Amino acid sequence: MTKRGGKANGHAKIERSGKGKTKAATATRRPRAPRAGTAANPLLGRWSAPFGLPPFARIEPIHFRPAFAAALKEHKAEVVRIARDPARPTFANTIAALEKSGRVLERVCGVFFNLAASDTNEALQAIEREMSPLLAAHQSAIMLNGKLFARIDDLYRRRERLRLTGEQRRLLELQHTWFLRAGAKLGRKAKTRVAEINERLATLATQFSQNVLKDEQSWRLVLEGERDLAGLPPSVRAAAARAAADMNLKGKHVITLSRSSVEPFLQYSVRRDLREQAFNAWVKRGEMGGVTDNRAILAEIVRLRAELARLIGFETYADYSLGNTMAKTPAAVRELLQAVWPAAVKRAGEECDALQEQVRAEGGNFAIEAWDWRYYAEKERKARYDVDEAATRPYLALDSVIAAAFDTARRLFGLRFKELPDAPRYHPDVRVWEVTDERGAHVGLFMGDYFARPSKRSGAWMSSFRSQAKVAGQVRPIIANVMNFARGEEGEPTLLSLDDARTLFHEFGHGLHGLLSDVTYPSISGTAVARDFVELPSQLYEHWLMAPDVLKRFAVHHKTGKPMPAKLAQRVEKARNFNQGFSTVEYVASALVDMELHALADGGDLDVAAFERETLQKLGMPREIVMRHRSPHFLHIVGGYAAGYYSYLWSEVMDADAFAAFKEAGDPFHAATAKKLKKYIYAAGNARDPLAAYVAFRGRAPEIAGMLKKRGLAN
Ligand SMILES: [Zn+2]
Repeated sequence: MTKRGGKANGHAKIERSGKGKTKAATATRRPRAPRAGTAANPLLGRWSAPFGLPPFARIEPIHFRPAFAAALKEHKAEVVRIARDPARPTFANTIAALEKSGRVLERVCGVFFNLAASDTNEALQAIEREMSPLLAAHQSAIMLNGKLFARIDDLYRRRERLRLTGEQRRLLELQHTWFLRAGAKLGRKAKTRVAEINERLATLATQFSQNVLKDEQSWRLVLEGERDLAGLPPSVRAAAARAAADMNLKGKHVITLSRSSVEPFLQYSVRRDLREQAFNAWVKRGEMGGVTDNRAILAEIVRLRAELARLIGFETYADYSLGNTMAKTPAAVRELLQAVWPAAVKRAGEECDALQEQVRAEGGNFAIEAWDWRYYAEKERKARYDVDEAATRPYLALDSVIAAAFDTARRLFGLRFKELPDAPRYHPDVRVWEVTDERGAHVGLFMGDYFARPSKRSGAWMSSFRSQAKVAGQVRPIIANVMNFARGEEGEPTLLSLDDARTLFHEFGHGLHGLLSDVTYPSISGTAVARDFVELPSQLYEHWLMAPDVLKRFAVHHKTGKPMPAKLAQRVEKARNFNQGFSTVEYVASALVDMELHALADGGDLDVAAFERETLQKLGMPREIVMRHRSPHFLHIVGGYAAGYYSYLWSEVMDADAFAAFKEAGDPFHAATAKKLKKYIYAAGNARDPLAAYVAFRGRAPEIAGMLKKRGLAN
């Protein structure tokens, strides 16, 4: 998933991204409270650290309110100047001027939303609740500014005669569309309502995500002694011991609701009662009753989105949201999801029968429940393919997987990574690398923040502190990857599951999309592309993790240094399609519920839980499988992926098809193919239509067959 730190102008959304660590002020600072606009506020002063990194050590929560106030004021003044310019609109005095505006705001948002997601605290959360509606109001004021839109509209009508470059033409057309979609043509009353809705939605989204974090922070399963630990392999025990130590429960073991903690527990724990406890807490996040319950919040979000869509002139929010994507219509999305759903359900049924057989074989007398699936699937995997997750972990030390991701980028795109141990960072766990190209020229900075901690939102994402652009001088990107891996025990390396390693490659693929970006204008830079295109660079990158040559060189045992035995690697490869019925069902169910929620013409008295239940029932959801993200904690659809969770599958059609280009060339690092991939996909931002970009790379439109084969769903 990607998050933009972002810009408050144009369409670029302000979303939460990374994080920051606050430290005590340095002794040389005068003990005066920092004030807005003064040099004392490190967010507003000059950033003199190497590469213009934010001065993290000096930034404290108290600096954000005045910095936001100053940045918003400045941006507002810039926009007013553009809108009231007496000169006839030109691309330079309107579109480019907008692109140049809001630099300070972008910088403050970049730091703030990164911190709010990856290293938050109560002070930052309070500011986030306060700032979200203000930022939404600011954005509305720009997008609903009649004078400004009149200038853009005028340029748009004259676009044939303006002698624009291809990128400028594309940006003008996009800006025009973004303004229309924001309600620029509405009457006064409707505009007021749109602005109200946007503000309220921003507040609700912040509450929703803070509630999920609170539910995750407030639950833990403390394992006491061997009886509770039964079945857990050493790596899972080590991570649980580490989590306990972090909570001052030294000597104990703790399972948290972070995916990389609870999933391995569900895979290995022989304690059916504890699995049930952990699973139920995990799927109930956001639905525990009390002040953190998200059901009413989501219902209001859905209702307001439906109203917003109607105001703008669309039948439903799904229609509205998809207008801006490759898929374009809910019908196209349903067609794709339905192309895999029946086959996935059928496959999941067969998988379930095999698991039930495992239960019978060990003398169990119960039907498989959702908290049993991962446990028996792990047994089945071992029985069928002789592959045990615990056997691959020692070959997937975090540092080796990072090195593999970097080396793949070197071989494909000529990039080099040099760690900067002294660079400023927002948390001691964060690592910073300088990225250079084959000629040694600076490309950008890459930050890796890999370990779970209570101050971090769950999940994994890429975000930016600064996006690439050259509209006002060369600006090179600062990109972050944030994960939630369970850290290895003190002094021991962190060992990843194959899934974790794939996640690292995935987010690194997004990272490259940000780093390699080579466009002029920030609104179309890097990952600012159609949502159902944005998962192409990330999912495509996952393919290289399993390239035999990469495995051989980087999947080495953390103790012996010996490469993963070829036989184990082959068995892992063979087991690839194992449990794909389950994975596809839990994913597609989430995508379909997301789509149906946003296809409601009127939210009315929506009961989120009942709606979810009924929708799944209609679809024929297997009773042993739960959606990958249930509605009350479905952060994707509250963030940037509303009516958009299908995007992963849409992008997967392209990634499977795109990787086949390398297979057809007979070399996963085929130079000419990699060169085209960089030019048309990774470096291209949103400078051209996504389908046209894909066709320029591949020579034809994507075909679905590769994806079905990849998931083992094609017969
Ligand atoms: Zn992603």
